[in-house]
Amino acid sequence: MNFHILTLFPDMVLDGLNTSIIGRAVERGLLSINAVNIRDYTREKHRHVDDAPYGGGAGMVMQAEPVCAAYRALCERTGKKPRVLYMTPQGRVFNQETARELSREEDLVFLCGHYEGIDERALELIVTDHLSIGDYVLTGGELPAMVMIDAISRLVPGVLNNDVSAEIESFHDNLLEYPQYTRPEIYEGMPVPEVLLSGHHKNIEEWRRQKSIERTLERRPDLLEHAVLTKKERIYLEKLLASRENL
Ligand code: SAM
Repeated sequence: MNFHILTLFPDMVLDGLNTSIIGRAVERGLLSINAVNIRDYTREKHRHVDDAPYGGGAGMVMQAEPVCAAYRALCERTGKKPRVLYMTPQGRVFNQETARELSREEDLVFLCGHYEGIDERALELIVTDHLSIGDYVLTGGELPAMVMIDAISRLVPGVLNNDVSAEIESFHDNLLEYPQYTRPEIYEGMPVPEVLLSGHHKNIEEWRRQKSIERTLERRPDLLEHAVLTKKERIYLEKLLASRENL
C-alpha cells in the first residue's frame, strides 16, 4: 500500500512513521511512505505558500495553487488518481471502521493543512474525503495523517507479525479488548486470573468475551448498540445491566 502525504513538514511525518512496526513494513516493501513538500510547488519567488484571508481575519491561509500542483504532479508521476483525504477538524471522525475501509485502497493521499487551513477552491478541486481525528483543533494535519496511517497500516496483510491480533482487538465486533496479562504470575500481590493459566482454550475464550462485554459496558456503552453478540452473550449483557440497575 502506498501513502502519499502532501505537507509543508515532510521531515515530521517521515521521522514519525519510519520507525518500529511501520518502519519495518516499509523496509519489507509492504508499505511505502512518500512525503511531498507542498513548498516545492510554489511559483512564488520567495517560496511563500500562504497569504492573508480575503475578507480579513486572523492568521494565514494556504494558497490553492501549490496544493493542486503538488497533487497533479503526484498523479502524473504515479499514473494514478488516488483518493485525497483532507485532514480537518470539520471532517467525519476517523475510527476503526474507516481504517478498515481505507486499508483496501492501493494508494491514498493525505493532505495536511497548516495555519488557518487551505483555500476552499483547492479543496473543491482535489479532495474526496474530509477526515478528523477528534473534536479539537491542532496546529497542522501532520499528526492526524500519522495517526490514520498508523491505524490503516496495521490492517494491511503482513504488517503485523500476527494478523490475528488486528482481528480480535478493540473495536472488533464493536467491543473493547479484554484485559491482558504477562509474566510474572503474581505482581505486587495481584495474581493473574486463574482461567488464563488453565490451558482450557474454550473457557479462556468465553472469559475473554465476557470481559470484553463488561469493559465495553463500563467504558464505552455507546458501542454496545452495534456489538456483534451471540445469544448467550446477549443474555450475559442483560444480566450485567440488571445487576447494575439493582445497585
Ligand atoms: N481554521 C480551521 C477550522 O477552524 O476548521 C482549523 C485550521 S487548523 C489550525 C490547521 C490544520 O490542522 C487544518 O487545516 C487541518 O489540516 C489540521 N487539523 C487541525 N485539527 C485537526 C483535527 N482535529 N483533525 C484533523 N486535522 C486537523
